[in-house]
Amino acid sequence: AGGSGEIYQRMCELVKDNPDVEVEFAPEVAHGPVEVKKSGCHGFCEMGPLMRIEPQGILYTKVQPEDCEAIFQRTIVKGDIIRHLLYKQDGLEYQKQDEIPFYKKQTRLVLKNCGHIDAEHINEYISTGGYSALEKVLFTMKPEEVVQEIMDSNLRGRGGGGFTTGYKWSQVARQKETARYVVCNGDEGDPGAFMDRSIMEGDPHKMIEGMMIAAYAVGAQEGYIYVRAEYPLAISRLRTAIAQAEECGLLGDNIMDSGFSFRLHINRGAGAFVCGEGSALTASIEGNRGMPRVKPPRTVEQGLFGKPTVLNNVETFANVPMIITEGAQWYKSIGPEKSPGTKAFALTGSVKNTGLIEVPMGTTLREVIYDIGGGIKDDGEFKAVQIGGPSGGCLVTPHLDISLDFDSLKKMGAMIGSGGLVVMDTNTCMVEVARFFMNFTQNESCGKCVPCREGTKRMLEILERIVAGNGTLEDLDILDELAQTITETALCGLGKSAALPVMSTLKLFRDEYVEHVVDKK
Ligand code: SF4
Repeated sequence: AGGSGEIYQRMCELVKDNPDVEVEFAPEVAHGPVEVKKSGCHGFCEMGPLMRIEPQGILYTKVQPEDCEAIFQRTIVKGDIIRHLLYKQDGLEYQKQDEIPFYKKQTRLVLKNCGHIDAEHINEYISTGGYSALEKVLFTMKPEEVVQEIMDSNLRGRGGGGFTTGYKWSQVARQKETARYVVCNGDEGDPGAFMDRSIMEGDPHKMIEGMMIAAYAVGAQEGYIYVRAEYPLAISRLRTAIAQAEECGLLGDNIMDSGFSFRLHINRGAGAFVCGEGSALTASIEGNRGMPRVKPPRTVEQGLFGKPTVLNNVETFANVPMIITEGAQWYKSIGPEKSPGTKAFALTGSVKNTGLIEVPMGTTLREVIYDIGGGIKDDGEFKAVQIGGPSGGCLVTPHLDISLDFDSLKKMGAMIGSGGLVVMDTNTCMVEVARFFMNFTQNESCGKCVPCREGTKRMLEILERIVAGNGTLEDLDILDELAQTITETALCGLGKSAALPVMSTLKLFRDEYVEHVVDKK
């Protein structure tokens, strides 16, 4: 949408027209031809289209097709920099990507390859050490040792609840049923969240390798990646990745002559938010209507096709290869002990540097919004941040210094969710925010249980009434009561968390609700 395709074409033409131009890879050591590569997302969405020049690590921002000639002639042929395209902040100019404040405070582990490798060529992934973790488990570790390593790492699911991944795997591994599945949840339905999409588009082999390690650990021979159909590029890159891995003998029968076999399929979701819920997702893969069911039995006992199933999201699987390669102790040294590792967040809303970021768990909201995000857009004033999408809650100024991790956020009545962070300034109406999220959840309610189907509808009606200036103070009490009831009685996570945005805005911004009902009457 930003025009990167056109820039890619223009650079290809320039390289083709100048076949004698070479690049110096190391001073006076190695020279080679110039190559133009398409990469996955660099994360710095606000400043796109981006062009990174290797091996110098120079990052050009907001590149236009007409800039390509100058970049080629001056940076590649002569080694100079085109200054007007460099990133500038607070009067300072940054040439190297790693020096830009947006990147400097990040720890990009899961997203390390995104924006650096061409996701359509398996050799690029292999050249970064890809598939060495799979090789390690296949030839040097027993399945139970792999489960133990993941358990020791304290890796927690990045898709929402933060359930311990190793424990989940151990539950599947100990089932009597020998037919087992590994399923990757790439449904990512939260408005404003695109972490998983970036991994699937920018580094698909990483999550595939993670899935294969999981399959080896729990004894599964078959896996499914459930991706929303609205992600056509992710689907195409995953298809290419699977085909290339099969061609290289890294996927399929008797992988690397180890005796381990694994088949991987892609299943396209039709865009229902509820299909991010485990039992609805497996029902959808089975060809049934995507609706949650009563638990137990849990997915680890009877998941896909009624068989024990490991179900994790894209980011969780993408963490697995580096845990195997670097070890559980290394992983635990990043962030708080009970929530270790990093987390990718989609930083959007009224913040200067919107984009996709990855920070160690335990980073504060202040660091994310001000150091990485560059502060509030148009030098406005911070009001709140909605974390965790429609299933999450609001955090306000007194929360700016709390640690972003599963447990700290839970104590605040919020959740990391899949990692959406929508920043709002003082011009934002919080009642309208609550109405927006309730409208989303109400539309996405599958209708199976009464509290969610009817309750969200009534809550939305009340919120619409309040926003239109026709609400009463009594409506606020009814909202409170409905929110409590739905949270306690809805069947699945969608319903149980549907009222969270209303509850948290009612708690933190009740005066705004009161203003709507009193002032406008
Ligand atoms: Fe469906 Fe909502 Fe009930 Fe979940 S809580 S089963 S989405 S109606």
